[in-house]
Amino acid sequence: MRPSVLYPLFAQIDALNGIGQKYMKLVSSLCGSKVVDLLWHMPSNIIDRRCGVPLSMAQNGQLWTGQVCVVEHAPPKTKKHPYRIVVKDATEQLILTFFKTYGDSLTKQFPVGAERIISGKIEIFNGMLQMAHPEYVVNADTPEQMPQIETIYPLTSGVTNKMLNKLMTQALQNVPQLPEWLDEHLLKSQQWPDFRTALWQAHHPQNMADLQPQATARQRLAYDELLANQLSLAIVRGRLKKQKGRTLQGNGALKQKLLNVLPFALTGAQKRVVAEIESDMFAPYKMSRLLQGDVGSGKTIVALLTMLNAVECGAQAAIMAPTEILAQQHAETINELCEKIGVKTALLTGSIKGKKRQQILEALQNGEIDILIGTHALFTDDVTFKDLAYVIIDEQHRFGVQQRLHFSQKGNNCDVLVMTATPIPRTLVLTQYGDMEYSKIDELPAGRQPVTTTVMPLTKIHAVVEALQRKLNEGTQAYWVCPLVEESEKIDLSAATERYESLQKIFGSSVGLIHGKMKESEKDAVMEKFKAGQIKLLVATTVIEVGVNVPAATVMIIEHAERFGLAQLHQLRGRIKRGFEASSCILMYGFPLSEVSRSRLNIMKQSEDGFLIAEEDLRLRGGGEILGIRQSGFNSFHLADMSVHTNLLLTATKDAALILQQDPNLSSPRGQALRTLLYLFERDEMIRTYKAG
Ligand code: ADP
Ligand code: MG
Repeated sequence: MRPSVLYPLFAQIDALNGIGQKYMKLVSSLCGSKVVDLLWHMPSNIIDRRCGVPLSMAQNGQLWTGQVCVVEHAPPKTKKHPYRIVVKDATEQLILTFFKTYGDSLTKQFPVGAERIISGKIEIFNGMLQMAHPEYVVNADTPEQMPQIETIYPLTSGVTNKMLNKLMTQALQNVPQLPEWLDEHLLKSQQWPDFRTALWQAHHPQNMADLQPQATARQRLAYDELLANQLSLAIVRGRLKKQKGRTLQGNGALKQKLLNVLPFALTGAQKRVVAEIESDMFAPYKMSRLLQGDVGSGKTIVALLTMLNAVECGAQAAIMAPTEILAQQHAETINELCEKIGVKTALLTGSIKGKKRQQILEALQNGEIDILIGTHALFTDDVTFKDLAYVIIDEQHRFGVQQRLHFSQKGNNCDVLVMTATPIPRTLVLTQYGDMEYSKIDELPAGRQPVTTTVMPLTKIHAVVEALQRKLNEGTQAYWVCPLVEESEKIDLSAATERYESLQKIFGSSVGLIHGKMKESEKDAVMEKFKAGQIKLLVATTVIEVGVNVPAATVMIIEHAERFGLAQLHQLRGRIKRGFEASSCILMYGFPLSEVSRSRLNIMKQSEDGFLIAEEDLRLRGGGEILGIRQSGFNSFHLADMSVHTNLLLTATKDAALILQQDPNLSSPRGQALRTLLYLFERDEMIRTYKAG
């Protein structure tokens, strides 16, 4: 249960004064509907409204704040003209102009002879100073009403900064004094204020430095958020470790047989990660491990070898891929090898129906099938195993912690391995997969040819098409990837269709099209044709991003490459690294190209190391973009910024481990305070989901 001290923060913002239904909607769309959401909405700028130079030194176009005396009013002659008020300071006159404003309210606000402090933008017309609609007007005897330094927030249309500031003032007043959850020594050494003060300071920046994520107050808040995240992950991880699992250690006979039929020797990295995975499988607790390996690093064999542990024990294993195409591809590879060693496999996807499906389901139930290959949908279906002991989830970087936990609750004390080909920067592994053990294949099989990557403007598309024609004539196959437009499938599709039609005019019937809006069966049919070489040039949206394997395709053209994430480009490029032939990738960009975009494309040109690319991507774009965190169930951060707060994250991770070591039940006074922290950042849910499952 959420501690009652936090209730005011979790109230809806319409509980604050001056916010009605309409405004509530707008503000919610901007930052969320709870008071706490408002508080996490950090300012992005400041406006200095401290009185500055005399009017005689005011500059055209600049903000001016100062005290003036009202000289006279000049009401408009017609409705079209503005209402003018002449004011002055000791040095110069200034004309205030108001359009469509009633004289009444202006005579009240600016009685002749009164002293006012005003703030607004100065314009100089014919040598005369003017200010249209001052932003602030306060009486000279209440100067404190003028915000000296106005905090500016990111806004949305319909929400003014003044209004948001008003709400924020109230929200900040509602923040209770909370028990300190941070370690005393850390607070001292960092000179961090307490939470409430930090929040207040973060919303009252005094200069530009205060707006930076490195500012003291912001660091404290970022640390709080990171600690909440790391602590919740550590709690889940600790509980998993305590859960009884099975010891999946067989006699090694099947594994040996497999190694004997493999046409290659395992790489050192493959051997190491197999051993790491087995150290969990052989132990009597539930495994939950992340396996990272770049495209082509050979994860499938690792998956199969470790699945054989379950089979040797007389149990079953399942591997799930995110799409039917990928499931099929796994099934082909795995089945071919398994046939040679007498292990029974089956493929089960949504498109396998009727009698065939029935047969597979029965065979699963009576244990005739050792290894099942399928799509993620498997687990939502009515599929029952005789004795499922090990589940591998492939390429599932779009799932969050909650969904993973959901998978691991299925089966019979299942060991779970998550495999991903998305190179994830180290910091993101910690924040998104901190509940799991971690293995990494950091070596590619020998003999891989490098991909030559060229970067060129879209204006050279004709030259590219000509070169492509030569390549296709030589028998090469190629991908043509169309850009992502505003993350909308519909617009993507029209761009891809257009490109498909124009390429068809040049290359005729050897051009194919594949996109996300096609039915699975349609996509499969196109992929089959591409694999079989009937399609030579495949125009695609990013549906080919994950996994599909066509060794003869060694050329890839990516249109508007500047619109893709680096990790995504890397994934795409990985599609042409499958064979043993040299391959080439052409990244075409549109104008204008920003400096950042240019350096990003250059990284792609210079490196094929997915991990390096991912780290650079993080540095340039921030973590949310890389993993598509916004669209997924991933932990997202309001205050912490992974491209800046790396050190804080590492400290928080250590801190969390230490806390649980000393106070596993969070029962000490600090432990109690930390519980409040978990609720404050809504990390309680993750722990609860886990318990409920
Ligand atoms: P990914 O990690 O992208 O899933 P795969 O498992 O599909 O990679 O392997 C890519 C290709 O490399 C496959 O054709 C596979 O047979 C081959 N392969 C895997 N391991 C080795 C190895 N140790 N030596 C040579 N080739 C290998
Ligand atoms: Mg794979």
